[in-house]
Amino acid sequence: MTRILRNIGIMAHVDAGKTTLTERILFNTGRIHRIGDVHDGNATMDFRTLEQRHGITISAAATSCTWKDASITIIDTPGHVDFTIEVERSLRVLDGAVAVFSAVSGVEPQSETVWRQADRFGVPRLCFVNKMDQVGANFDAVIEELVERLGAKPIVLQRPIGCEHAFVGIVDLVTMRAFVWEGGAHPRETDIPVNLVDEAKVWRAHLVEQVADADDSALARYLDSGDVFEADELRALIRLCVVGGSVQPVLCGSAYRNIGVQPLLDAIVAFAPAPADRPPVEGVNPATGETETRAASAEAPTVALVSKVQMSRYGALSYVRVYAGRIRRGDTLVNAATGRTERIGRLLRMHANEETEIGEATAGDVVAIVGLKATGTGETLSDPAQPIVLDGLATPAPVIEAVIEPRASVDHERLGQALAAMSREDPSLRVSTDPETGAVLIAGMGELHLMIAVETLKEDYHVDATLGAPRVAYREALTVAAEVDHTHRKQNGGTGQYARIKLVLEPRDPGEAGLLFENQCVGGAVPMLYVSAVEKAIAAAMSEGTLAGYPVIALKATLVDGATHAKDSSPLAFEIAARDAFVVAFAEGRPHLLEPIMRVVVTTPGDHLGAVIGDLQSRRGSIVGADMRGNVHEVIACVPLANMFSYVNTVRSLSQGRATFSMTFSHYAALPKALQTRVMAEAC
Ligand code: GDP
Repeated sequence: MTRILRNIGIMAHVDAGKTTLTERILFNTGRIHRIGDVHDGNATMDFRTLEQRHGITISAAATSCTWKDASITIIDTPGHVDFTIEVERSLRVLDGAVAVFSAVSGVEPQSETVWRQADRFGVPRLCFVNKMDQVGANFDAVIEELVERLGAKPIVLQRPIGCEHAFVGIVDLVTMRAFVWEGGAHPRETDIPVNLVDEAKVWRAHLVEQVADADDSALARYLDSGDVFEADELRALIRLCVVGGSVQPVLCGSAYRNIGVQPLLDAIVAFAPAPADRPPVEGVNPATGETETRAASAEAPTVALVSKVQMSRYGALSYVRVYAGRIRRGDTLVNAATGRTERIGRLLRMHANEETEIGEATAGDVVAIVGLKATGTGETLSDPAQPIVLDGLATPAPVIEAVIEPRASVDHERLGQALAAMSREDPSLRVSTDPETGAVLIAGMGELHLMIAVETLKEDYHVDATLGAPRVAYREALTVAAEVDHTHRKQNGGTGQYARIKLVLEPRDPGEAGLLFENQCVGGAVPMLYVSAVEKAIAAAMSEGTLAGYPVIALKATLVDGATHAKDSSPLAFEIAARDAFVVAFAEGRPHLLEPIMRVVVTTPGDHLGAVIGDLQSRRGSIVGADMRGNVHEVIACVPLANMFSYVNTVRSLSQGRATFSMTFSHYAALPKALQTRVMAEAC
């Protein structure tokens, strides 16, 4: 029997009810036995307190539960966009997502960011309009916003019965039946209430019209005889459209009151894609350099991606998505990017409150492996006989850094160990030591990212630490091309060192990052072994620009010519020559400093709009958009990160606590001259 698998993520703006909904799903699928409440406050804290209270791990990277005949794995997606890498990482391994919206607040800025990411990864989605029981709930307004703000193509599958405190259930437009919750966990099925029959007919007709053309014979029947579809037939048409990504079904409910959660589970099984519905994964065969694909079949050669490494009581747990083939305990797989092999120890399927050991995982499964030694987040494991490397997960460069110190000096070593473990779990959190002061530095994607790291240190690793004032992670770049002809020669008896290189350094286009290296030497003037030594040395030298010691963001380097000496040339001599040449050429290429610019979206009542805009402008911000949403204004601005520290306090005091904001990295831009001088003086 083929297993019915669904790997889904739950995406939501903070406070839309993701935690509550996840908990209700686990409750309704029998994974936890008691419903707990989530209190208002910081969502990350909610997860932790909830976990402590119930001894469950709903923030595990993947939690599996069973609904009817299907096995549903919920892939954790982080609530805050500060952790964009985490969002992308989870989008890579899931097949479909449930986007949760609040029926009161609708589509919020952060939901927009996550929605667009899901678009980019081609992830089919269902929408759940939550909080239908709350005062101000408006199902139809959210549907309009889905179209207007997200460009979504919603297909409405349910109509609410009642609203706000009178919300009691839903009309299912596929079966044209009503489901009413009367206090118990399970709904009672009834006829559609008389006052909703006409409305239901209109929406049903609309639904059928939106999906009938998914299949030619269905369309022909529809054009001939109208809506003659049985529930199963209609479900099949809806499924075709959802899996193809052309529409997004919309459901509603109240997670808090456990209304609408079972129909949502039914919809996940009926409409969310199965692993085999997704396109085959693509990767590169390291032996040939050719692109290959692997179909989502247990019989195909094995390939799996490590999506996350999480510390647990077993030590490091590596979550893998098996894309093809099968992984058994005791198997040997290869990390083809490095050539190192891994023997598979224990394999676990993670549930809310326990984990089960399994003997085998097959295509489509998301499971955890205990004790991988040489494979990190974003790396591929594959069949050694048919190795393949999937596209890695891009780790964005951190934009902010701060000194971190333990409160008690005896904790120094434990702090180092804990931070090392945390950056293995989250590669966008970088740890380094200031070479001059010896202080420990942590760098990440935003102020909140670093603050949460401090909290994690305390809660999970019992290390109490303080964070210094956050500093901006500047970058250096060239503004013009520069050429240098440099000879490294050293003669002090015995074998000497000789290397001559002619190197051109050039800026790259905005938005490009990293080193683009080209070898233009003709006639083997510089042998390949030495050319790679030059490339390696330049890549290493880019970690420190010559202006103020900040990393060089992007560079094109061309080795134009060079010369060797029969006895005295070596890779080392070419490395030294390249490093020295880099320093000279970079300084000649009129380098400048770049600063991270953030995209800031502030939502504020009209009374405070002027104050919010004025304040953003005083921070060197440029307003790039403004909009009305219901009775609140939304302002979008690009603001240098350097001027956004502690903005959360400012925005609160400017608006008497009524404005909210979200902030994500947008791009790097040249730092104004006067500020550049100041930053350079501080760096000395
Ligand atoms: P998250 O930040 O998206 O994980 O949201 P939570 O699940 O923590 O919910 C945020 C707040 O909204 C909590 O106080 C919940 O009790 C409340 N909440 C969640 N779902 C509902 C709902 O369906 N109805 C009502 N009235 N409140 C809800």
